[in-house]
Amino acid sequence: MTLPWGLHERLWPLKYTIFLGLFAVTLVSIETAEALAEVEPFKTAIVLKFARAWPFVLYALILVGIGLFVERFYCRYLCPLGAALAIPARLRMFDWLKRYGECGSPCQTCSRECPVQAIHPEGHINPNECVNCMHCQVLYHSETKCPVVIRQLKRRQKASAGAATLDRAIQNHPNQKKGKVHV
Ligand code: SF4
Ligand code: SF4
Repeated sequence: MTLPWGLHERLWPLKYTIFLGLFAVTLVSIETAEALAEVEPFKTAIVLKFARAWPFVLYALILVGIGLFVERFYCRYLCPLGAALAIPARLRMFDWLKRYGECGSPCQTCSRECPVQAIHPEGHINPNECVNCMHCQVLYHSETKCPVVIRQLKRRQKASAGAATLDRAIQNHPNQKKGKVHV
């Protein structure tokens, strides 16, 4: 299920707030920070296999339930570790995820198909949210889905068809035929 863009945009800062909150708490009390780190459900679900007090189990089950409908819900909106890792993504040296001028205006194919909604409707990629799945780069080169590539292909086909017609015309030209006979 894809969340409406407005809601998605309001939810994604949550994980940064959680991360910064946790970081601030660690400066005051490690024990409290450890308790608050229970925001991540993996200890309950994976380490303890749900053998815990019911509030922890309920919380983990709710996240699992939402995750069935909203792809990577916890990772995209709540995970403080994901937020911490997203910060260095801002410092990347190369902008290697390619885009066309037409991306976003008017073409929405990549933003519709990005599995984590990391592409703004205007067309640019939010590097903090991108998980580098490369799907938009496959679309960028797609001869069947990307309108820019399709247009370039059509132009090339037209040009080579024109060149072939010109070649044929030259070959069939009477002077050319005469020349051939002469040779
Ligand atoms: S399909 Fe092509 S034009 Fe459309 S958004 Fe993707 S890369 Fe851009
Ligand atoms: S690489 Fe994947 S996650 Fe990143 S913007 Fe492209 S489609 Fe989205």
